[in-house]
This record gives sequence, structure tokens and C-alpha cells, in this order.
Amino acid sequence: MLDVRGLRKVYDGSGRRIEAVRDLTFSVAAGDLVCLVGPSGCGKTTLLKCVGGLLAPTGGEVLLEGRRVTGPPPGTAFVFQEYGRSLFPWMRVAANVELPLRQKGLSRRRRGELVRDALDAVGLADAAQAYPWQLSGGMQQRVAIARALAHEPRLLLMDEPFAAVDAQTRADLEDLVRGLWRERGITILFVTHDIDEAVYLGRRVIVLSASPTVVREQLEVDLPDARDQVRTRVDPRFADLRTHVYEQIQAAKRGTPPAVEVTTSDTPPPR
Ligand code: ADP
Ligand code: MG
Repeated sequence: MLDVRGLRKVYDGSGRRIEAVRDLTFSVAAGDLVCLVGPSGCGKTTLLKCVGGLLAPTGGEVLLEGRRVTGPPPGTAFVFQEYGRSLFPWMRVAANVELPLRQKGLSRRRRGELVRDALDAVGLADAAQAYPWQLSGGMQQRVAIARALAHEPRLLLMDEPFAAVDAQTRADLEDLVRGLWRERGITILFVTHDIDEAVYLGRRVIVLSASPTVVREQLEVDLPDARDQVRTRVDPRFADLRTHVYEQIQAAKRGTPPAVEVTTSDTPPPR
């Protein structure tokens, strides 16, 4: 569904050139849930903006369903990190969710249905007439997710959406995303700097190096699809995967090239 090929992004402003993304190549199959994890400042937001057509790459290309992305593609929705700034405080929740639908030429009735369905899906049916500032941070981020869902996206791009909420809320929101993904068959590309979150959420995890960014590793998360905040996180396989991703990221920070092969033997390597 999504092909990122040799993506490069150099920011060039006021005499300073910053190579945020050096060379990224990866694909995402339709219906997959892929987490991109990498250290802060490694270019995750830059990458997601290029995928969502909000930023033009310096080199390489992004193909969505075979077509080159040159602007925000239809069927793609974004959930940003800063939910506080992404909702209009003077508009009620339902109006915030409806706003992007107004450009789609839908009937008022159809828009109403989509808004109700989306708020229902995130557990906020009762908050439709509230103002965003009357809601907690976690609820505001649910509104932002509802707004993305109302758009009926085939591809959902999420940029560290839960970085600013407390641990319990974050766990609930992670399960919400997993549930929506399983029920609605949306393809999700989820960016995070949190290793545990990447392994818990993803069917696949792509580990990025520190800036200038390349793909360091891609791994399948071979945990059962039905995940559970308590049981999954104490599963020995979960611990193996998170340790592995952690080591990759540490090595990436030190600039060590990735190992060609991952040892799976029971004997630990010599230190
Ligand atoms: P991440 O989301 O992984 O934290 P970003 O994509 O936000 O990383 O940033 C990657 C690098 O690009 C950083 O060094 C950042 O300072 C730089 N950068 C991001 N946006 C801009 C911009 N608009 N102009 C110049 N540099 C930028
Ligand atoms: Mg970012």
C-alpha cells in the first residue's frame, strides 16, 4: 500500500542545512499496523509529514497505492502529537470532528452519521456537545482520533499521539488503537520514541537510526493479535523483543552498524 523509497529530507534555511532524513526505504502492506521507533530528533515527524504529503522530500519518493504523493492524499488521516493545539477551543467536540468533512461534499445527514459513528468508536458519544477544554488530555486525543476516523481513512498516520498523557490513559488509548485497527482494517503507521509502546502496538516495528536517519532494522512482532496490557507485557517474548529493539537503538546512537544476523541461541554472547 505504502512504499517509501530512498526518502531524503534536508532542511535548508538561513544558511543552515540540516539533513533530517538521509535514506529511508520501507513498505507497509494494506491492513498492517507498523510502528516506527527511533530516538528524539531522528526525523520521525519529518518522515510522517513526507508520507502525508505535508512536506516535499528533497530526494526519493513516497508511493501510496502506486501513486506518487505530492500533496495530502485522499484517504489519509493524521493524528498529531499536540492534540491541545489541533482542536479548536471555540467549537464543540462534534463540530471539531465534522470540520474536515465539510470539504468533502457530503450531505449534512451523512456528516452527522460519520461524526456520531466516530465519537462512538472512541467512547465519546456523550461528549459531542462539550468543548475540548472541558475534557481531559486523553479525551481530547480521543476527539482527534475521532476526527481522523470520520474521514474514513485507509491509511492513518499517528505521530507520537500519546506522548503527553499519563500512563493509565496511554494504556487505554493504545488498546483503543489496536481495537480500531482490528475492527476497521485501517492501515496504521504509528510513530513513537517509546520502545515498549512500539512492541505492544505493532505487528511490525521499524527501528530508525539517530539522525541522519536510515532504517536500522525491521522486525515482526510475533505476539498473538489479542494483546493485553498485563499479560502481553509480562510475556517472555515481549521482553525479548523490547530488549532487542532497545539494544538496536542504543547501538544506533553509538553509530555501530547493525549485526547481519540476530543470534537466537540460548547461550549469551561473550562479553
Ligand atoms: P523527531 O520527530 O524524530 O523528533 P523531527 O523530524 O522533528 O524529529 O526533526 C528531525 C531533525 O530535523 C531535527 O534535527 C530537527 O531539529 C530538524 N528539523 C525539523 N523540522 C525542521 C524545520 N522546519 N526546519 C529546520 N530543521 C528542522
Ligand atoms: Mg516528532
